[in-house]
Amino acid sequence: MNEKMNPEECEKKSLNFIEQFVQNDLKEGKNNGRIQTRFPPEPNGYLHIGHAKAICLDFGIAKTYGGQCNLRFDDTNPVKEDVEYVDSIKEDINWLGFQWNHLYYASDYFDKLYEFAIDLIKRGLAYVDDQSAEEIAQQKGTPTTSGTESPFRNRSVEENLDLFQRMQAGEFEEGSRVLRAKIDMANSNMHFRDPLMYRILKMSHHRTGNKWNVYPLYDFAHGQSDYFEGVTHSLCTLEFEVHRPLYDYFIDLLKGEDNYRPRQIEFNRLNITYMVMSKRKMLQLVKQGYVAGWDDPRMPTICGLRRRGYTPESIRNFIDCIGYTKFDGIIDIGLLEHSIREQLNKIDPRVSAVLKPVRLIVDNYPDGDVEWNETEINPEDKSIGTRSVPFTKELFVDKDDFMEEAPADYYRLSPGREVRLKNAYIVRCTGCEKDTDGQITCIHCDYLPETKFGQTNAKHKVKGTINYVSTSHCVTAEVRLYDRLLSVANAADEKDRDFIDMLNPNSLTVLKDVKIEPIVQDAKPLDSFQFMRVGYFNVDPDSTKDHLIFNRTVSLKDAFSNKLQGKK
Ligand code: ATP
Ligand code: MG
Repeated sequence: MNEKMNPEECEKKSLNFIEQFVQNDLKEGKNNGRIQTRFPPEPNGYLHIGHAKAICLDFGIAKTYGGQCNLRFDDTNPVKEDVEYVDSIKEDINWLGFQWNHLYYASDYFDKLYEFAIDLIKRGLAYVDDQSAEEIAQQKGTPTTSGTESPFRNRSVEENLDLFQRMQAGEFEEGSRVLRAKIDMANSNMHFRDPLMYRILKMSHHRTGNKWNVYPLYDFAHGQSDYFEGVTHSLCTLEFEVHRPLYDYFIDLLKGEDNYRPRQIEFNRLNITYMVMSKRKMLQLVKQGYVAGWDDPRMPTICGLRRRGYTPESIRNFIDCIGYTKFDGIIDIGLLEHSIREQLNKIDPRVSAVLKPVRLIVDNYPDGDVEWNETEINPEDKSIGTRSVPFTKELFVDKDDFMEEAPADYYRLSPGREVRLKNAYIVRCTGCEKDTDGQITCIHCDYLPETKFGQTNAKHKVKGTINYVSTSHCVTAEVRLYDRLLSVANAADEKDRDFIDMLNPNSLTVLKDVKIEPIVQDAKPLDSFQFMRVGYFNVDPDSTKDHLIFNRTVSLKDAFSNKLQGKK
């Protein structure tokens, strides 16, 4: 299932540092040789390609070492979460080729977490703070100066128990009180300065309804959820490295006498040039109508990439290629494009498509004749066989393949010059017709019958080949050309600019009158083709029988298309 990239471009690393860590634990017999991971998305948006990196790792480690990987929805914040997101996340993980062993929700543990909080209050390790979020933030201190203790820090256990239970009973307003861990306001790790455990939220939750008026925060929910489930390796991105001591602190207070404990290991987040990699920003693009939805083919979402024509293999290969490190960086979008191009080149049927059509009349070709030329579907895979391509007197070619006055090294159509029509004949251009605005309306040619493609005696050579479709057989389609969503490579470099200002205004170009050879007539959504000399395209799900729509997945390699077009 894995088609690896070129060795030069992607040296398969021996073992990544996480695999080494896991192997070491196995060697030392930790957790009785059990390996368990989890993928823990918050259902507050659709998955993006950054999540695919975490998914490949979480599921990959479990598979490699005979363990299990569970899907856990980290649904502790009902304000932003939605069932729509839960469903899409499941679909996308499956589409990427992975299947979880169990499906869990952090909300499954709300009772246990609440009990644990009560236990910590009883042990004098947690207290209710009546201050506002702003006051608490002001007392945090800085990494080099201590914080200030809350005036409510030394409440009695009884008072804390009473207040916390009344918070849950709904007696207090949102924002009026929080439950905090009583740790150390002078700790050099800011996360130890009495972190928040619970806040009041009077929101209905997608699974627990109105049962709860208090909801746990990430740091109090995540590690404990790992522990309840039996996770051995809790893999997450680097920004959580500074949370790890707190993760361990709560686990120490929770865990029993046995030797089991989950370990958090961090790896670098995926960032890609010209892409937005944050659910919050993606939501803004969707809500404000900058894109057509979460699955707009310009989006970095898994569903957007799927609609655009990316395959699960190409995404997995890309992730495999970039690897896992301890340093944040940014990956060139060209590498992602390369991974899909490599795969589609091997599997896509070739078709002729004319994006900007203009009529070409072969004046010396008999009226009404049709030749059906057998042509390879994919020269990279001859076993697929051939297709029949019609050749007639009246054709469409691309406006960009004609110049009335062309430089000497232009090897396409121009009066007096010769060019090969792909898999058919060499034609000699004799002139063109124009409308009153000077626009070319028709090109005239004569064909050279003895130059039919595949004839052994064809000595006549030309430097350029262009494609065409027959006007009486072709299909008309809409084609959507996509360009980068952002106009800057690394949005993180431009801290002062709103990312909306960095959107590429030309990220979508719609062509309404594209002419394609008839073989695509019965194509189904997501079917993919190489439009020869142009790029890889797939059928958009918006298509109907009478209105085919294609998305450009990726263009052909520039160097390659330049070569075919006869440019230097
Ligand atoms: P975002 O900032 O886009 O909302 P998130 O980190 O809040 O992402 P979660 O749903 O909390 O998204 O993430 C689920 C898992 O995916 C986490 O383990 C997280 O570390 C990982 N993840 C999220 N974004 C990336 C990324 N760009 N690269 C690698 N892993 C990621
Ligand atoms: Mg998050």
